[in-house]
Amino acid sequence: MVLVYIETAEGKAKNVGLEMITAAKLVSDKAVAVIIGNGNEEAVKQAATFGADEVITVASEGYNTEAYCYIMKSLVEKYSPEAVFVGSTLDGKDFAPRLAAQLGTGCVTDVVAVKVEDGKVVYTCPSYNGNLLNDMVVEGTPVVIVRSGSFKKADPAEREVAVTAEAIEVPADVMRAKIAEAVKEISETVNLEEAEVIVSGGRGMGAAENFALVKELADLLGGVVGATRAPIESGWISRAHQIGQSGKIVAPKLYIACGISGATQHVSGMIGSDYIVAINKDEDAPIFDIANVGIVGNVLDVLPLMIEEIKKARA
Ligand SMILES: Cc1cc2nc3c(=O)[nH]c(=O)nc-3n(C[C@H](O)[C@H](O)[C@H](O)COP(=O)(O)OP(=O)(O)OC[C@H]3O[C@@H](n4cnc5c(N)ncnc54)[C@H](O)[C@@H]3O)c2cc1C
Repeated sequence: MVLVYIETAEGKAKNVGLEMITAAKLVSDKAVAVIIGNGNEEAVKQAATFGADEVITVASEGYNTEAYCYIMKSLVEKYSPEAVFVGSTLDGKDFAPRLAAQLGTGCVTDVVAVKVEDGKVVYTCPSYNGNLLNDMVVEGTPVVIVRSGSFKKADPAEREVAVTAEAIEVPADVMRAKIAEAVKEISETVNLEEAEVIVSGGRGMGAAENFALVKELADLLGGVVGATRAPIESGWISRAHQIGQSGKIVAPKLYIACGISGATQHVSGMIGSDYIVAINKDEDAPIFDIANVGIVGNVLDVLPLMIEEIKKARA
């Protein structure tokens, strides 16, 4: 059994949790989803729909590092899983290493692939800025932090699974830090991992102001703006948008690549997209090798046309 921690936001499961159910089933006969918090009925249903064999819920007031560690540690002691999978979210990266330390076990971070070899589970993690892929085998029950977008969610299917509500009382002295107030984050966050549509711009966009076209198309399609490293280094767009080996790994339903050559370091971050549309003025650009639809042309001509046609179709 692998315990898969499913983080929620407003009662819904974050994608990385659902993706980890797929990962867990590659290495174990049973993926048990763990959902902590209150008002998570929708997330419980999602966990079952996306393949969890069982769901454990634990009522809790909001996220707290020490409380969540205590809860997860109690579950590990009770259920003796082969591993605990945690998504590479801010909360996941916050509590997983502490949980590993409390369990006296290893913590594998930034896992992008898993497999079983000679009866042992092998976790693959990029290192040296993605230039090397490290295969790791950990004795005991490791805590495994999985990178978002590295695994595909299972095909959804209506399923009834056992849901066990565990009552775990966290002793007051465990929580040495208390959240006094949650203030809205002021730094830019871009939710690329959860996006169903991503419109990305590369160096071929030519200038910062041309990213307005990328943004307009993304907004029209209810999507999010992504970018390659080149325009980020030119200061045209912030690093929060970077997709690729040293950026975010994404797997949207639709990925539109605008003025992007298709370098491996970028492609490795978006190859999991269901449908790829590429616009590039060079018909030999490598991005066309992986695109479902390729448009040879100048982005500054093609994007306004696409935007205009979508607006017309919707009018
Ligand atoms: C260790 C390491 C990690 C890296 N990590 C990442 C990463 O995470 N993400 C990432 O993206 N990159 C990463 N890179 C950089 C990567 O190697 C490429 O340099 C980068 O992806 C190229 O970005 P690009 O496609 O926008 O630019 P280019 O490769 O310069 O391609 C621009 C494309 O735009 C086309 N074009 C130009 N003008 C137009 C126009 N008007 N209309 C249409 N098409 C046009 C050109 O034909 C060309 O194909 C990394 C590199 C290293 C060494």
